[in-house]
Amino acid sequence: MPRRPDLREFVLIKRTMEIVDSATNGTSSPPPQAKKPKEDAKVDLEYFNSYDDINIHKLMLQDKPRTDAYEKAILDNSDVFKGKIVMDGRAGTGILSLFCKKAGAKKVYAVEASPFASLLKEIVELNDEEGVIEVIHGKAEEINLPQQVDIIVSEWMGFYLLHESMLDSLIKAREKHLQDDGIMFPSHARIYCAAVQMDDYMEDNVSYWQNIYGFNMLPVATRVLENKLSGGQPEILNLKDSQLISAPSVFTEYDLRWVQLDEVKSLSDRKFVSITRDGKFHGVAIWFDCNFKPIFYDEEVAEKFKAVKLDTGPSAPPTHWKQTVIVVPRDDADVEKDEIVGWEITMQQSENNPRHYQLGLGLLDPELDEHPVPCECKMARCALFAALMQKEDDDFEEVPNIEDVSS
Ligand code: SAH
Repeated sequence: MPRRPDLREFVLIKRTMEIVDSATNGTSSPPPQAKKPKEDAKVDLEYFNSYDDINIHKLMLQDKPRTDAYEKAILDNSDVFKGKIVMDGRAGTGILSLFCKKAGAKKVYAVEASPFASLLKEIVELNDEEGVIEVIHGKAEEINLPQQVDIIVSEWMGFYLLHESMLDSLIKAREKHLQDDGIMFPSHARIYCAAVQMDDYMEDNVSYWQNIYGFNMLPVATRVLENKLSGGQPEILNLKDSQLISAPSVFTEYDLRWVQLDEVKSLSDRKFVSITRDGKFHGVAIWFDCNFKPIFYDEEVAEKFKAVKLDTGPSAPPTHWKQTVIVVPRDDADVEKDEIVGWEITMQQSENNPRHYQLGLGLLDPELDEHPVPCECKMARCALFAALMQKEDDDFEEVPNIEDVSS
């Protein structure tokens, strides 16, 4: 069935996703047409105007796993918020600021860059008689605050985590406003990838064209896939766990307290994975999770802290982020259990518009291409190396620590 995009998806993805494909030759190539870089101000205007749309905020509020995770992480850990100065770096409707106030924060700066800030002011006036929340219309990384903050709470994640590039501005805002011993909420994020089978998608986009009133129109299917791959879009869809045909594998992970700008501009990762069942290798799925589990130097606080995870993967309840799939155009999609497949994914911030990333996927040959070390695939030499590393780890753990020896 054709998929109707959700609004946030529609507005944000429509003009933003660029994908560089080179699946057939195994290397990434530049985007099809190099466009002139857009002026920053124009990019910002377009971007923030898209957030002036009430339906986008409704979509986010109605994303229960998302909003529940923030509510739980903040209210179940109200001790961490009591008496603290907080910045909600992307306030929108102010929902996270209101949670922070409810948890006992002394002061919350609700920062919103889009014109939606005027509605945010009205919402805050209605719900914050005490005047704990102060709305600031501006960009979190540019505004000035009268004091450093103890906690930055923010919902900045885009499709496959990095889309929209909000992490850049979060890092800049953190450097400008967070105290040395301050914490980030969420505190950690991880991007995962896995091989997937997508029968319905292939039926809809490929097989459908095989028999149209008795005529074969398969060239249209080829064009559809080619368009998607060369300058088109990756797919944003909800997968079922049963569609994964390899174990999820970590693409990258960030400690949000310390991650630096150069770590988010350009990423690439080579993977070889073992296929877990006979099936069809139709694409590589990408998704992320975020953890609310900051590091506390005070042991008592650390012990009492209740960690929360927001998981946008296929085995968790669906969120508006869904999963991102880069379709793999293999003529023969059949794969067998224990077969090894390999790919290199690149994510490169676009020079044309730094809010966009170019996703690249190149297929690798497990026999010819070099495997990373360590490698998760079950090929003899990788499995042997993994076993040796495991043994080394086990041996290391068995060494008694100095206190045990001296007592
Ligand atoms: N916190 C809200 C809204 C999250 S959506 C919620 O959880 O429902 C992100 C919001 O951040 C949007 O309203 C967008 O306009 C705003 N935003 C994006 N980048 C920003 C920046 N650099 N500074 C301030 N606000 C920003």
